[in-house]
Amino acid sequence: MISIYDLNLEQLTQVLLDNGFKKYNATQVFQWLYRQKVSSFEEMSNLSKDLRNWLEENYSCEQLKIIQKQVSQDGTRKYLFELKDGSLIESVLMHYDYGNSICVTSQVGCNMACSFCASGLMKKKRDLTSGEMVLQVLDVQKDVEAEGIRVSHIVVMGIGEPFDNYDNVLNFCGIVNHDLGLGIGARHITISTCGLVDGIRRFADEHVQYNLAISLHAPNNELRSKIMPVNKAYPLEKLMDALKYYASQNNRRLSFEYILLKDINDTDDCLRQLIELTKDFDVYVNLIPYNTVDENGYSSTDYKTAMTFYDKLMSNHVRCTLRQKHGDDIDAACGQLRSKYERSH
Ligand code: SAH
Repeated sequence: MISIYDLNLEQLTQVLLDNGFKKYNATQVFQWLYRQKVSSFEEMSNLSKDLRNWLEENYSCEQLKIIQKQVSQDGTRKYLFELKDGSLIESVLMHYDYGNSICVTSQVGCNMACSFCASGLMKKKRDLTSGEMVLQVLDVQKDVEAEGIRVSHIVVMGIGEPFDNYDNVLNFCGIVNHDLGLGIGARHITISTCGLVDGIRRFADEHVQYNLAISLHAPNNELRSKIMPVNKAYPLEKLMDALKYYASQNNRRLSFEYILLKDINDTDDCLRQLIELTKDFDVYVNLIPYNTVDENGYSSTDYKTAMTFYDKLMSNHVRCTLRQKHGDDIDAACGQLRSKYERSH
């Protein structure tokens, strides 16, 4: 049965009209789902019995099942959810000075096989539906509501490659962004891609206000192909061309994600090449301390080298942040909780 959370307001309006209900019924249902946050059609008390029965017969209102929750000392919360087909996915809620940001999973597993990432250890089983992404946000919001916490930002940076599940991810963004949905501002929503060029070009043409982040992680083809197989299909020249196209179509600043991997991509040469690559863009570089993944041998750059990267970028007029580590004590890196859970069960 289709989940009611898969539908955006326009789709819901259309199916209700097609079935003899009124346009305003769609608004009512949306408000029950996202304002009142009820979890059954039965609770939608201002709908007619007919409509409630019809919804019950045609749509599911089922929530995700939280099977594990970890709260880190820094307040980061990590949720392990079970989907209807038994698949496990993760979401992480992080607290920043500007708000609370949820990291949303977009696929069960991932086919991109980046060598440093725990998600790539599990091949993609399937795409998530829009509703399964919406429910990650909604269920986490419900969980923290009593503590007065509001999820204000979304990053599609959990397990999976969002542009390998393009339609569902964009539909998800539309639902959580809608005023009558969760009302999360478009500029507070970030989609992160490892560099699927076709997706970037398509996204450029949407002219939406969501932020685009690129997982760059290496500033030359040799190294990037080594640690990110996607670079073989879409080498840096193609990626940069697509980003120039994006920049020409959208007046939005890009972000480059750059995990600092000790002795791999933190050399002077890499720093020089990274500065060179940013030249043509209004870009923000996020330097990310590496979250150790048991299975793979990489370690994080030491603090001093990380600071050198930061200082050199800044002195070359490249805006950047050296991101703080979040939730290292609770396996908050992509795919870590799930892969540990699956190994122990
Ligand atoms: N496929 C998308 C989104 C998922 S990965 C993408 O590649 O952008 C989200 C971000 O987490 C990426 O920048 C990824 O490279 C990074 N990441 C993966 N494993 C990590 C780890 N162990 N420590 C820190 N960041 C990691």
